[in-house]
This record gives sequence, structure tokens and C-alpha cells, in this order.
Amino acid sequence: MELFLANPRGFCAGVERAIRTVERALELYGSPIFVRHEIVHNHHVVEDLRKKGAIFVEELDEVPNESVVIFSAHGVPRKVMEDGLRRGLRVIDATCPLVTKVHKETQLHAREGREQILIGHAGHPEVEGTMGQVEGGMYLVSSVEDVESLEIKDPDHLAFVTQTTLSVDETADIVAALYKRFPNIQGPRQEDICYATQNRQEAVKVMAKDIDMLLVVGANNSSNSNRLRELGERHAIPSYLVSCADDIRPEWLEDKERIGVTAGASAPEYLVQEVLEQLNSLKGRLKINEIIVTQEDVQFSLPI
Ligand code: SF4
Repeated sequence: MELFLANPRGFCAGVERAIRTVERALELYGSPIFVRHEIVHNHHVVEDLRKKGAIFVEELDEVPNESVVIFSAHGVPRKVMEDGLRRGLRVIDATCPLVTKVHKETQLHAREGREQILIGHAGHPEVEGTMGQVEGGMYLVSSVEDVESLEIKDPDHLAFVTQTTLSVDETADIVAALYKRFPNIQGPRQEDICYATQNRQEAVKVMAKDIDMLLVVGANNSSNSNRLRELGERHAIPSYLVSCADDIRPEWLEDKERIGVTAGASAPEYLVQEVLEQLNSLKGRLKINEIIVTQEDVQFSLPI
């Protein structure tokens, strides 16, 4: 069986920074350290940090006074930050700098009096964090149909931003629909979809012609992992999201000889290696072809 291994795959700079921030806070302040929301969308990572002394909560009112609290890589609404500071909590913001960049764009548009549209998926914490950056909120669109039915007040004072972990191709269609319907809309000078999301999707596109099945290592609630699985499906390739090697069903592999493997930006490499071992035991000796589309060297400094 031939295996096509995407490169880049797995951890991005924002995820590495967020995990390292929790570890550093535990070193500096000791346990417990509170973390609002999963620091990144991967329960293996969360469990590992929990064992080291991190306590994960969904809301700030679960955090005792005078505690250290870390905000996850996805970012938080301004009100959450303000509440934490008002309560005197020691707040450490592990929001990915590329999400913070989008927050700054929204704040600039708000100061300049524009209504705003966010391209993103309802319910994702990054979307809640970005929409919570400005008074009065913004419109959320997830499809070209959403753009067509949108009712805004003033098309000459309008701007859009995007979630960082979207499908590059679908987002391009939505952006084109926005410019068509609102010719004076202002958008980001450079793409809001982050480098890691783009690179992981590009690697899948490059190997799509060579594979007859795609495995994406990642969590069900990970946006960029789901976009990778959908990308495989758009190329008519049976595509599955697995959180670990045990999720692989032997029947998926029947008649499959050229399997692609990638991993979402919050999936650790050891899970990918376990998937490779499982494929090896299920299908025999693997011939591995690594599909390298670019070398990533992005690093972000820690917030503490
Ligand atoms: Fe930052 Fe992109 Fe990683 Fe999200 S996927 S944490 S935006 S680098």
C-alpha cells in the first residue's frame, strides 16, 4: 500500500504558542491554572495539560478570585477580557496573533463607522470572539446564499473580515459574491485565512490526484480539520476525520491502495505516527511518499 503524507500537517505556530503558554504558566505560578475553553481543539492535548495541573472551564464565573486564567488560541469577546480584568484575575491571553490581527481589523472598521460582515461558522469560539470585538456586533455569513439574502443599512459603509480556518476555495466564492453585491465593501488587504490553514489545504489538493482515500487526524470540533476532510470529499475521495488510530475502521481500507494522511493544526504529531502504525498493521508494509508543498518557519513569542 502506498501512503501519501501531507507536509505541512499538524501543529501550527498559534497552537504551539498556546500550549506552551499553559505549560509556562504552570512553571511560573504552579497549579491550578485555569483555562477558558479548550486551549486548542484537541482532547489529547487538553488531557495532557489537565494532568499537569490545568483546569478547563467554559465561563469566567467558574474561575475563583485571584486565580490565573488563560484565554484559548481562538480568542474571546472583549467583554470576557474586561470581566476578567475587572475581577482582578491574572489574565494571560493565548489568542493566536493571527486571530488578534482580525480583531484589530474589526476595531478599525468600527472606529471608521462601518457595518461589518464576518465570514465564518456559527458557534465556533473564534467567531464568538471576533463578533464580540465591536459594539452592536456584525453580520455572520457562511455561504453565497447568505450573502444574497443579507440586508444591511448602508452599502457604502461596509467591511468584511473572515474566520482564520475556513476553506480557501469556498471563502473565495463568498468574497466574490460580497464584492459583486456590495462593490464598495472594504476587505482585508491580505487574506484573513491563516498561513497554516492555507498550507494544509494546499498539501491535500496536491496529493488529491494520487490518493483513493483521505484520513485527517483531528478533532470533530476543529474547524480547519473539518475543512481538510471536506476538501477530500470535494475531490470525490472518501475522507474521514479520526481523533486517533483507534477510530480507523478496517472496512474503510478495503480496496484502498493509495491513502493520504494529513492532520489539522491542533493535532499532535504523535497521533499521526500512531495512525501510520495502525495502517501498517492493517494493510501491511507501507511505502511512504511525503508531499511537501512548503516549509513553515513561523514562530510566535509567548504572552508571558
Ligand atoms: Fe493561528 Fe492559524 Fe493556528 Fe488558528 S490555525 S492558531 S489562526 S496559526
